[in-house]
Amino acid sequence: MLDILIIGGGPIGLACGLAAQKAGLSFVIVEKGCLVNSLYNYPSTMTFFSTSEKLEIGGVPFVTVHNKPTRNDALEYYRRVALSNNLPLNLFEEVTNVKSENGIYTITTSKATYQAKRVILSTGFYDIAVNLDIPGEELPKVKHYYQDPHFYTLQKVVVVGSSNSAIDVALETYRKGAEVTLVIRGAEVSNRVKYWVRPDIINRIKEGSIKAHFNSNLDAVREREVDIKTPEGIITIPNDYVMAMTGYKPNFNFLKKLGIILSEDKFVPQYNPETMETNLPGLYLAGVVCGGLDTHLWFIENSRIHADMIINDIITKD
Ligand SMILES: Cc1cc2nc3c(=O)[nH]c(=O)nc-3n(C[C@H](O)[C@H](O)[C@H](O)COP(=O)(O)OP(=O)(O)OC[C@H]3O[C@@H](n4cnc5c(N)ncnc54)[C@H](O)[C@@H]3O)c2cc1C
Repeated sequence: MLDILIIGGGPIGLACGLAAQKAGLSFVIVEKGCLVNSLYNYPSTMTFFSTSEKLEIGGVPFVTVHNKPTRNDALEYYRRVALSNNLPLNLFEEVTNVKSENGIYTITTSKATYQAKRVILSTGFYDIAVNLDIPGEELPKVKHYYQDPHFYTLQKVVVVGSSNSAIDVALETYRKGAEVTLVIRGAEVSNRVKYWVRPDIINRIKEGSIKAHFNSNLDAVREREVDIKTPEGIITIPNDYVMAMTGYKPNFNFLKKLGIILSEDKFVPQYNPETMETNLPGLYLAGVVCGGLDTHLWFIENSRIHADMIINDIITKD
């Protein structure tokens, strides 16, 4: 029997593993994809807004030449940390259920069954995209994940959203020769866009290099065109690809299936903010999964502390 089973091998799952290792507890990290799967699926060109020391886990220095690391720097760092500490990682294995009986958890995965005294759920929010719920969304040309701008050269691209991801996609694909139209629900580019990127997009819109429709929504997608609902009425424009950068959300069905209580408005899971223990004794939450629909509240920088909070609570109770 394990002391702890950690679900999710993202940065925070690894941080929990390092803290458990330091405390001499037995544990396994079960990850449904590759190591730091979410980061692996980020755009290849992505640069973190955090400086490298703010992404460090387990006190291991994250040394980079530039102060803001790239996705590739982060992959190198987390892989080195995991391998050099011999963290027990079972990759490409999905946890499908967690049940508790007489204070012991039975964890079922796609490959095995485990028993553990405690479970840490650090499953993030990057697996499920927020849908547009419009006709044509199922077409293969509609993407919720973006890897690289080169693919979109000379293509007519509609980018939906005004978050950092949307604005990065708009600027990058424009600079690789795409014809870009932004569809933005609000009246302006979001204030949350990185302060060094916001003037760039505002100026590209002003000079007309990137078209933008504000107070607008994408209304329908067809093979060769899209409809945009603007304040002046519906307009139809020719289109090759739609980048629906409308955000992601935690797997609420999975949390509910396990018995974690979620708030009614924003699906925020119930947990004790001092210990991270949920309404289920011995089942803890760590990392960005804690935010419910407010996925912008938690990131690596401010959630890596969950690891020590959880392990301290476990040690105190044992
Ligand atoms: C584009 C982008 C840029 C960002 N930039 C920054 C930044 O600059 N600074 C910062 O601090 N944060 C940033 N964030 C936020 C932060 O990097 C991520 O949300 C981070 O991945 C959170 O770590 P995590 O370990 O909580 O979750 P994740 O990294 O998402 O890890 C969760 C893991 O759980 C796995 N998993 C899910 N369900 C199961 C299951 N049932 N069984 C087994 N495994 C499962 C997933 O495959 C995944 O690997 C950014 C996020 C995005 C999307």
